[in-house]
Amino acid sequence: MPKKDSSALESVNLMVDHACSFLNMPPGLIEQIKTTNSVYQVSFPISFEDGFHVFTGFCAVHSEHRTPSKGGIRFSETVTLEEIEALASLMTFKCSLVNVPFGGSKAGLKINPKNYLTPQVERITRRFAKELIKRGFINPSQNVPAPDMGTSAREMAWIADVYRSQNPHDVNGLGCVTGKPVSQSGIPGREESTGRGVQYGLREFFRHKQDLKTAGIKGSLGGKKVIIQGLGKVGYHAAKFLQEEDDVKVVGILEHNSAIYSDKGFPIEKVKQYLSENKTLEGFPKSETVKNRETLLEQPCDILIPAAMGGQITSKNASKIKARIIAEAANAPTTFEADAYLKKKGTIIIPDIYLNAGGVVVSYFEWIKNISHISFGRMERRLDEKRGEDIVKAIEKATNVKISKDLKRELIYGADELDLVRSGLDDTMRVTYQQIRERFHSSKDMADLRTSCYALSLEKIHKTYMEMGV
Ligand code: NAD
Repeated sequence: MPKKDSSALESVNLMVDHACSFLNMPPGLIEQIKTTNSVYQVSFPISFEDGFHVFTGFCAVHSEHRTPSKGGIRFSETVTLEEIEALASLMTFKCSLVNVPFGGSKAGLKINPKNYLTPQVERITRRFAKELIKRGFINPSQNVPAPDMGTSAREMAWIADVYRSQNPHDVNGLGCVTGKPVSQSGIPGREESTGRGVQYGLREFFRHKQDLKTAGIKGSLGGKKVIIQGLGKVGYHAAKFLQEEDDVKVVGILEHNSAIYSDKGFPIEKVKQYLSENKTLEGFPKSETVKNRETLLEQPCDILIPAAMGGQITSKNASKIKARIIAEAANAPTTFEADAYLKKKGTIIIPDIYLNAGGVVVSYFEWIKNISHISFGRMERRLDEKRGEDIVKAIEKATNVKISKDLKRELIYGADELDLVRSGLDDTMRVTYQQIRERFHSSKDMADLRTSCYALSLEKIHKTYMEMGV
């Protein structure tokens, strides 16, 4: 095992190079695909009662072969330009893989939002947005951010408001960010979407016996033991849906300041409530506190779900990881070196650019809704219901049998916007996984799912460049 791990950016580039070695791409094009198109760094002051605070932010637009570019805005004390470039690059490959017609980008602000009051975070966010907007880094047709670590629907509403006040004549202004509150032209299901996508992705994996055999896993998703790192927007929704709807046992939870374990499994809703009231997981009833919290990643389980920071599975801990499946809900949680080691060991890694794509898929739906200025299902819902009623009546008449009230309700029900969003997301996660596994099983060279993902994604980007001309 090497002593030093590659950074997130180096890891993505090495993974891309590895996939490229199986592809036939024109010399030089891969350099263009790997290179970040533009970066922007800005510092600005905000005056508070105790004086001026200076903040530094970054934005990286990795690719524009499709526009707008798309990627989250991260608020974190540890964010760096290099990390933002890596995350922007992942967005390029993710969008291509799941057929979302966007390029890749990312933005970040060096801040711990917990150190500021809400009105202060609002001022800082609005100022950062102003700086990005004035240089074209936020725009419904050029670059459309969304929530990431440390940001949420609240920040997106503030950013949309700044954009619209600076661009009052842009009729598509609301499409300048996604992940907005539903009441501010957001879309139902966006907040849960990344976690929901993790659930749909894992369900699809478990539908394929051959893949379970490769992973050395028996049985269904129900009853599997899961350890999750990070109970934020992504981790909480993934854990909640898997526990409540798929009967998965979440036996371990790791947060930034604490970690707990219980062989019996945790009720996620109660743990989340406990965490928001106590700011720690420690002391949650009937749980065992893990003193050296990071070692929780190394405890026995079937599925390990990193859903927090990048670079959590490294050459230091990879050999101690016992999970058969690593389900990458976070971006870049595994370094190139750890990935190579785990691959050899036979651990199945369901990679980030596939598994956490639910967020960008539903962001795409929100953006379409914003630029088409109509909710999904608004035109056809009542027509679908009427058709259902007519079918029920026709069946009852033809058979002379009354259909039960419950079945009638199901047959007549017209899908609402949330149903349509979930259906579109489920379809994307299923179809994409089928393409990934087909690629994986069709060639001996495709030794892992990550390489298959990058190969599929790179081929599509290559085709776009060739068709449009470089
Ligand atoms: P979030 O800020 O809502 O939640 C992150 C959680 O991780 C918080 O509860 C935080 O306390 C915890 N955490 C931070 N450092 C930790 C550590 N060292 N160990 C354990 N827990 C830690 O962020 P999020 O939106 O849930 O994003 C999580 C990950 O998913 C990130 O890697 C992000 O890039 C990725 N992601 C997010 C989205 C999205 O739609 N939000 C989409 C795709 C990928």
